[in-house]
Amino acid sequence: MNMNKTILHWSYLNFKDVPMDLFLYEDLEEVYLKENFISVIPQWLLNITSLRFIHLAGNNLTDLPPDIYMLENLEFLDVSDNELTELPTTLGLLLQLQQLNISGNKISELPKELNTLRNLEHLNIAKNKFRRLPLQLSECVRLNELDISENEGLIYLPERIANLPMLQSLSADLCNLMYLPAALSKFMNHVRIFHNTSVNYIPMIYERFYQNFHDNRRQFTPISIPKKGLFWVRELETQKRLLLPVGTRKVFQVPSAENQVTLYDDCLHALQSLNRAVVPLYENETLHRLLPEPYMSAHVNNGPIATCTTKSCSRSLYTTYYLMVVKRRGSSSKQLFTCNFCTVNCAFHWLSGNARKYYQVEWKVSDDDDDDDDKK
Ligand SMILES: [Zn+2]
Repeated sequence: MNMNKTILHWSYLNFKDVPMDLFLYEDLEEVYLKENFISVIPQWLLNITSLRFIHLAGNNLTDLPPDIYMLENLEFLDVSDNELTELPTTLGLLLQLQQLNISGNKISELPKELNTLRNLEHLNIAKNKFRRLPLQLSECVRLNELDISENEGLIYLPERIANLPMLQSLSADLCNLMYLPAALSKFMNHVRIFHNTSVNYIPMIYERFYQNFHDNRRQFTPISIPKKGLFWVRELETQKRLLLPVGTRKVFQVPSAENQVTLYDDCLHALQSLNRAVVPLYENETLHRLLPEPYMSAHVNNGPIATCTTKSCSRSLYTTYYLMVVKRRGSSSKQLFTCNFCTVNCAFHWLSGNARKYYQVEWKVSDDDDDDDDKK
């Protein structure tokens, strides 16, 4: 522990402004100003470049100054529970930033410029007004903890974000996700992604996080999901319609007569590995033009939509895969789980290890003229 660093504890003091006395402290590194009544971050504060840590939770801030980038050594910024409606794009210039907490505000967009925060480890945007997240967030490659919960308008989490290489913890409770992402970082050890009312099945990869799914603490109105352009299957035991991840083009039954070759997916696989190694694809205009069809860049941008459920394989899946819908044997819960496999061999391998615990439920592709006769 560094005993020399200067820390100010000025929380809970009914301050209406940041006290100018701050200037009296040399080499100030950490300042706690939690639960005051501060409505403005003054310009002079931005000159104290020794600051590494600012805690301003529970104040009355309505915006952050664009010059905030001047605090070039800032590693920790907590402005949760304020009145913020947007963030300055210059936040992306705080290159040392490791933790950012903006939860409990009224923000609806995350600037795509935050993609430069390569040291960012913890991001908390819970309890805001987000409707989408920028794909560029997937470039914050150190991101380890992501909390997006309680954003009622959030219906979709780009797969590439759920699959960030170092992500360990993802919280997305009480959003309105249409389905749960079926590709997760292999380091994941904490997931809270439940209480999303439109979701009616759980990808098998969540099995180890599965708990209290039926404990609906709060009811949102389920969103109405358009059927067009999305891929649905209907399971034939209770006739529920399941929305498969966006990007799905074709799914195969288990068993199938023969192994289906997915050349298109093999190409995407190769492109994706190239893309990881060099620059993000969405900045690569040439590649965009060279791709044989427009779908391809969308698929590459978003990343794999699932990984093979057989753990020893875990191959990335993009547009075509073997789908298995299962339920637990002898369980009173009606919970549906889904498995995604790269080959029928992987499916048999998984089934041989799990057949005592799960049984397959038949399904068929739900076509457009399938009416909305869902039984809930
Ligand atoms: Zn596989």
